[in-house]
Amino acid sequence: MDYVVIGAGSAGSVITRRLIDAGHRVCLLEAGGDDNSFLVQAPMGYAVTLPTKINNWAFETVPQVGLNGRRGYQPRGKVLGGSSSINAMIYTRGHAADYDDWAAFGNAGWSWQEVLPYFKRAENNQNFGGSMHGQDGPLHVESPKNASPFNDYFFEAAAINQHPLNPDFNGESQEGVGMYQTTTKDGQRFSAAKGYLYDILKHPNLKLITKAHSRKLLFEGKKCVGVEYHHQGTVKEVKAELEVICCAGAFGTPQLLQLSGIGPAALLQKHGIEVVHDLPGVGQNLQDHPDYIAAYKANTTDLMGYSIKGFAKMIREVWRYKTKKSGLFASTVAESGGFLKTDPALDRPDLQLHFVSGIADNHNRTSHWGHGFSCHVCVLRPQSVGSVEIASSDPMQAPLIDPALLAHDDDMATLIKGYKIQQQIMQSPPLAQHVTEVLYKPHLSNDGDIEEEIRNRADTVYHPVGTAKMGTDTMAVVSPKDLCVYGIEGLRVADASIMPTLIGGNTNAPTIMIGEKASDMILGK
Ligand SMILES: Cc1cc2nc3c(=O)[nH]c(=O)nc-3n(C[C@H](O)[C@H](O)[C@H](O)COP(=O)(O)OP(=O)(O)OC[C@H]3O[C@@H](n4cnc5c(N)ncnc54)[C@H](O)[C@@H]3O)c2cc1C
Repeated sequence: MDYVVIGAGSAGSVITRRLIDAGHRVCLLEAGGDDNSFLVQAPMGYAVTLPTKINNWAFETVPQVGLNGRRGYQPRGKVLGGSSSINAMIYTRGHAADYDDWAAFGNAGWSWQEVLPYFKRAENNQNFGGSMHGQDGPLHVESPKNASPFNDYFFEAAAINQHPLNPDFNGESQEGVGMYQTTTKDGQRFSAAKGYLYDILKHPNLKLITKAHSRKLLFEGKKCVGVEYHHQGTVKEVKAELEVICCAGAFGTPQLLQLSGIGPAALLQKHGIEVVHDLPGVGQNLQDHPDYIAAYKANTTDLMGYSIKGFAKMIREVWRYKTKKSGLFASTVAESGGFLKTDPALDRPDLQLHFVSGIADNHNRTSHWGHGFSCHVCVLRPQSVGSVEIASSDPMQAPLIDPALLAHDDDMATLIKGYKIQQQIMQSPPLAQHVTEVLYKPHLSNDGDIEEEIRNRADTVYHPVGTAKMGTDTMAVVSPKDLCVYGIEGLRVADASIMPTLIGGNTNAPTIMIGEKASDMILGK
């Protein structure tokens, strides 16, 4: 093989495709299985995979001080397409200034003007064109069809509170409320695997091995020459004549590097791992969006939920989906939202809302009888920084994940302001008129009470990044010039873990952008 790519997720799918298109032989190792299941293909399916181990690593964090000692939850895709096969399919890119920040931190080549062409190259936007969008890339992006009327109620309630409608969060301005565009097509999920891998699955130059868990990287001195992996009950090896590209995601990548002897020397020695290269930043700099959800019961079966009438409707909806690929099961559920500022003087929104036409509680691990809606609010640029560290030298053992959610006072202060903005919108007509019960503690106004409520109920909104960050400082793991791992030959990292800071938005499109840019770097373009 010329290249071995580890992880068939958002970034790994892109890189594999671009290398195959360039005539290379690629072995793609994916720990999960195929993505044929209805739960992957039907957009609504993620409501089932989210709380379970189906196609999902379903990690837990270490106890979080900022969450009153609770363990957080960290779902991640373990299937062809990775997290793009279990995510909520929302297509946003973050704010232009986030990328200019990356460049200002010493990452030459990663400013907004330099990454925009890669977003556009990936994008096949069905609704928007012009200078901000691509319309002939592999990734199908569209506005929702048959969206719930409750999205309009949400917009009206937001307008009353001076939050205007924004038709395109990825256009000239990010601020406002509006419908999210989604990575869907013909009523089905459009994962990175669907966009980039499906056409080449039978290509003679591609060797895709699913259910192949990479255990460690193989070295000759400081040159990475292959990968050891576990497959069908045995340990096997694959050699890379040119390079290994690690795309195992924000938890999988630092875990694999550390297991292979690349990471903080003291940590590796503690677990009896021979140090190949002492790189203190591996596993550090974990950043994630802390998120609080408000949920409400409402008097209509138009919203998702459990009821006798609702079950009868569900059966009709299954049939509708099977025959027409439309209706409830074609919905991504989190169809609208917004990017808002806690202070008008800020240069960019610091909060994101996700409006959900169903009751979302505890990552769907807690169910409620009845129908309703929910609204997430999250802090877009958290100051809290955590880590990922191996728990032992056993590659099958989950790493210790510490996102340090709400550890920093600034994050809590921002989320308290976010809670108030969220509550103002939720308590405004016409949304408020449909509410029959406010779940959890309603209408808190005292900051101390709000803080306690947030610490008791907040968690991630699924955007961990930064654990093998690019940069030029001593904690950087890869070079911004080529994403090569410092001190090692023949090894690159390209996935969400290379982000130096968390961007203000959902992270799938930015990771696909990273995959596109990394491909050009590998191919010397
Ligand atoms: C529930 C959920 C909802 C989300 N919603 C959205 C959304 O609506 N919009 C959005 O933009 N973003 C969303 N995200 C985030 C987004 O999907 C991720 O940021 C993005 O997919 C990360 O891409 P990646 O390539 O870094 O990692 P992944 O896509 O997770 O890919 C990593 C791959 O590596 C594999 N792997 C890991 N370890 C090994 C190993 N040792 N050996 C072999 N293979 C391995 C994994 O199985 C996986 O397939 C969501 C994520 C989740 C989990």
